[in-house]
Amino acid sequence: MQTKNSIREKMSFDVIIIGGGAAGVSAALWCDELQLKTLLLEAGSELGGQLLRIYNPIKNHLGIETENGRELRDIFIKQIKNRQFDVRLKSEIEQVDLKSKTVTLIGGDNFRARTIIVATGVRRRKLNVEGEEEFTGRGIIESGKRDASLVRNKKVCVIGGGDAALENALILAETASKVTLIHRRKSFRARAEFIEQAENNRKIKILTETILQKIVGGEKVEAVELKDLNTKEKFTVNVQAVIFRIGVEPNTEFLHGRVALDENGYIKINQNCETNVKGIFAVGDVANPLAPTVSSAVGMGATAVKTLFAD
Ligand code: NDP
Repeated sequence: MQTKNSIREKMSFDVIIIGGGAAGVSAALWCDELQLKTLLLEAGSELGGQLLRIYNPIKNHLGIETENGRELRDIFIKQIKNRQFDVRLKSEIEQVDLKSKTVTLIGGDNFRARTIIVATGVRRRKLNVEGEEEFTGRGIIESGKRDASLVRNKKVCVIGGGDAALENALILAETASKVTLIHRRKSFRARAEFIEQAENNRKIKILTETILQKIVGGEKVEAVELKDLNTKEKFTVNVQAVIFRIGVEPNTEFLHGRVALDENGYIKINQNCETNVKGIFAVGDVANPLAPTVSSAVGMGATAVKTLFAD
């Protein structure tokens, strides 16, 4: 794998992969396997995508168990070290011309290919309530696992009702003095095992049909203002930390109106990871709202490349 600036001079490739998470890296590996001249573009400063933000152990990826996402990412990097493809980091997409298969980066560099594989993943959804921006890093925490020591003997509020919210509530309850879980509906999306554990945990208080309206504080978070959706009553709970786990949304803004997307913005693909535009493939979470796992992402990368090679 090459990360030199000399890539600029090459310009033309068999395959351009946009996004360097598990799906994109898997696709790049398979491109080398099939001797395709490939450029992997990553917006961040390192490869790994969401793996870099998984702080919990990964136990369900067949073949290897790791303590966190970064450890698995490092194994991927070691594996591709001597593979022949170009990597360009800090490469944000300005525009993709689907007809000529030309990718233009912010800054002006252009690259062309016969095939483009979109692997841009998803990002955490924001709630956009008052205080969410203001208290980021000042009481709003990113991960229950990573930040567990920061909330030792403190009161924490978790927002959301899926696996991520429940799992984080359980992890935080190990060190926090109290965890208040806020969910907008009566029933949870999370798996039964997590719900049962949370309901039986004396440190966790669950408030359903309740929404967060505002995060308040001075230097740091001091409280959350909530609203009971049944009684319409507003009330305040004192907390020193807040964590949001209200799901994710796909990074597909640059494709709106040009590739078929579902109602939530995920790319529609067939079983070969082909989009409705010839020569444009999509792999990983950006095209897989129902099964966003590392295993699926890795498999989709392989499927797309084997398919485009056979074409
Ligand atoms: P989900 O989409 O599963 O859940 C998001 C939750 O946030 C839902 O309860 C949703 O409420 C709520 N929500 C969404 N928007 C808002 C809003 N504007 N205001 C208030 N609440 C909102 O996302 P997760 O991140 O929990 O999980 C994503 C995927 O990752 C899932 O497939 C999950 O299984 C997986 N995962 C697996 C884990 C594991 O295996 N250990 C751990 C974590 C995640 P509503 O239900 O009303 O829509």
